[in-house]
Amino acid sequence: MMLLRRSLAWALPVLLAALALLTAGPRGMVDWRAERAIAFESDDWGLSGFVPDAAAWDGLRREDLTPGNFPPVYWNSTLEDSAAVADLAAVLASHRGRDGLPAVLQPNYIVSALAWEGGQWRRHDLPDLPVAYRRPGLWSAVTAATAQGVWYPEFHGAWHYDPDLRRRETAASPAAATAAARGIMLFPGSEAARELGPWRPAAALAAELDSALAVFAVAFGRAPGSIIAPDYTWDARAERVWSSRSLTVIQAKREQRHPRWLAGIPGRVLKVVDRQWSRATRPQRTYLERNCRLEPVQSPDARAIVKACLRDTERAWRRGEPAIVETHRVNFAHAEAAVAAAGRQGLRDYLDGVEALRGGAPVYLTDVEIAGLVERGVSARASGGGLVVRNGTHARRMAVAIPDPAGGQKMTLLLLDARNDSWIRPSAVR
Ligand SMILES: [Zn+2]
Repeated sequence: MMLLRRSLAWALPVLLAALALLTAGPRGMVDWRAERAIAFESDDWGLSGFVPDAAAWDGLRREDLTPGNFPPVYWNSTLEDSAAVADLAAVLASHRGRDGLPAVLQPNYIVSALAWEGGQWRRHDLPDLPVAYRRPGLWSAVTAATAQGVWYPEFHGAWHYDPDLRRRETAASPAAATAAARGIMLFPGSEAARELGPWRPAAALAAELDSALAVFAVAFGRAPGSIIAPDYTWDARAERVWSSRSLTVIQAKREQRHPRWLAGIPGRVLKVVDRQWSRATRPQRTYLERNCRLEPVQSPDARAIVKACLRDTERAWRRGEPAIVETHRVNFAHAEAAVAAAGRQGLRDYLDGVEALRGGAPVYLTDVEIAGLVERGVSARASGGGLVVRNGTHARRMAVAIPDPAGGQKMTLLLLDARNDSWIRPSAVR
């Protein structure tokens, strides 16, 4: 009750101020109506779970695990293999934006796994994988897709769950111990065992983030530019730690969940106020909202999902926002090949669909590009050994500072012609 009164006392004046002051989407220096930009954000890549393969459930009753609720298709969600990445890369590469660059997916990566091996918990950091999840050739496929410019890894988290809870709950349940020995990632209560749960100490979260960012840098050769919290669960502490590590582009703020906040309408009001307050008081952070949902394998009617996503894409553009498309890994990597094939088909249909929309071809962007364009009107991102640089403004020339390819602190300034509707072509920078 104390919490309720305090929250409302704080919330109401702020709500009024927030409603008057703020709008929902990225605006900035670029005319997003004309840009027709699309970004894909895809969570759960690199996650060694839920199962190594469909046979993992043989003779087990998954209800005995009491892991919580998941959409049915997730029970056989699995770690991607080289074919899943290569097949998806081929779909992306066959669709190009008006700048000539291919559609680019941002796989948000989980970088570490706990595995019960040889009678103990062992930690595996990408590109190393648990024994049950060996995927020969996976990293070559990731490297090839990155070089093609269709794969731009970003950061999801370390484990996707609280590792201490997993150890404890597995030790206490014979069914969970059997499942863990088979490589099944679920355990009693795992749905609610959020990696960034409010019960976890801030110092532990900071140390875990540093370790995970180090793994990411080794695996992908650069730091991530944007982040999505596992299960959309994080708090102000987490955002502060991210910002202090230069992770300032935050995905899906509107989906943020606070397990300990009030339920119902007061909770929803508080969420809106909190979000708008963050936007107003944290100008150094960029919040990107997912405004299209492309999850065809979670629906009996994949075509309807694609159609709705196309409609939402046009709506986002009309509102003056880039279309930011949510599409989880489960659509493209699954223990049942037919599921992944259906997911790829959904993406292909969506890409065909956006390219057939009236009003001109789209351009495919990443989060860091959207953030750069919103904040400075210009952007730069690594792509296949070069850089894609863009000037989205009407200004005749703008400067982009890019890190010196030789490393170190030196920056190189690029002068970009203003081409209101045509983006600066990618330039290979050695
Ligand atoms: Zn996730």
